[in-house]
Amino acid sequence: MSNGCRHLSRKIGPEHPLAGKIVYIPTMADGSAEAFAAVFRWLGVDASPTPPSDELTRELGSRYTNGDECYPAKVIVGDFVRVIQQPGFDAKRSMFFMPTADGPCRFGQYAPMLGKILRDIGYGDVQILSPTSKNSYADLGEVSTPFMRGGWRALVAASVLRKALHRKRPYETIPGSSDKVYEEGIADLCSTIEQGCSHNGCQLDAIVAVMRRSREKFARIAVRYDDSVPLIGVVGEIFCRLNTFSNEDLIRKLESYGAQAWLSDIPEWIMYTNSEQLRKLKLQGQYWSMEMLKARIRWYVQERDEHAITEPFKQDFAGSEEPDVYEVFEYARPYLPNDGALGEMVLSVGKAAYLAKHGADGIIDISPFTCMNGIVSEAVYPKLSKDYGGIPIRNFYFDGTQSELDRDLGIYMELARSYREKKPLHAASRGR
Ligand code: SF4
Repeated sequence: MSNGCRHLSRKIGPEHPLAGKIVYIPTMADGSAEAFAAVFRWLGVDASPTPPSDELTRELGSRYTNGDECYPAKVIVGDFVRVIQQPGFDAKRSMFFMPTADGPCRFGQYAPMLGKILRDIGYGDVQILSPTSKNSYADLGEVSTPFMRGGWRALVAASVLRKALHRKRPYETIPGSSDKVYEEGIADLCSTIEQGCSHNGCQLDAIVAVMRRSREKFARIAVRYDDSVPLIGVVGEIFCRLNTFSNEDLIRKLESYGAQAWLSDIPEWIMYTNSEQLRKLKLQGQYWSMEMLKARIRWYVQERDEHAITEPFKQDFAGSEEPDVYEVFEYARPYLPNDGALGEMVLSVGKAAYLAKHGADGIIDISPFTCMNGIVSEAVYPKLSKDYGGIPIRNFYFDGTQSELDRDLGIYMELARSYREKKPLHAASRGR
């Protein structure tokens, strides 16, 4: 790289608590987990996503949980136990990445629960890596800043590639061509991050270049556009809506029924957690504190990075841009104000309204069975649907035992088609 950058070393030293470890990352969303693992490797820490989930995941997840947990917990536990069962697994060297958060639901219990299960089955030596803003990501030591920034960039880039995939795949004339371009884009992203420059600006330039290369490849995919294809917004609980194993690959099934999906992705949740941090600091009267300054700088930097990474696809995404989190709050306000309700229910409801206003012909909320966020959102959706011209909104709950999904999706698509024909809110440009 010849742009005069300083090539600072970001690699951890031998004294770092992650030195010599291998970090396993739960595969919430395929490409995102791979890109996130590449950020660890960029910092000199071996890392890998958990292997693709399968029936054994469910079996092991059920065996080591007691049935009260949410479905994502079961899938994550199942996949971590599969890692343990891999030949040559070294407990002392291994770390399981399990983020945590405050909030109104059970997510904050995932990491302690995982620790207990590991101890119970004799793998208490496996460490759980659970970085949190509460202790300034102390687990990551001196690489916490480059890790957080690189991780954000990786997740944004992977979500942009996924969005491009969902916009092309329903129209491809050669089956599999969009998936191939997406997978090549993720591989390019991972190798670029892992082997890339350690300087912030230089890393961003390299990721933007990946996006340009991918955008060119997506543009070359042979497609036959059909403006009668219904656009379905997909919201709901973050793990279940992104994890294709948990949701039985619902988006691909939707496409097989002749739909295009608009999926809410990971960056939306991260910006929500940022907004919550600001809200809490204000509640504590910390308007002019160092914490507030740091949070605002992080927000500014993340937005700037997101803008740069999305820019190569700007023209393609015209009319279907992702909203700022405060815009989502405004859409949610008549139903669930964000200062009165917390968590994903606010995002699901606000985004559902935003999508209805921006051309969606139907909304699907994907949630795990018994998920509090899904249940509250479902109670609100009839009013929202009425306010938006009767747009069909349907909750799909998952617990690994779905049997009627195909039939239900078929019926739902009929509703979306008939809404499309008579809807009062006209579709925005799909950016073609
Ligand atoms: S959002 Fe729902 S599924 Fe996810 S942890 Fe919370 S309650 Fe469980």
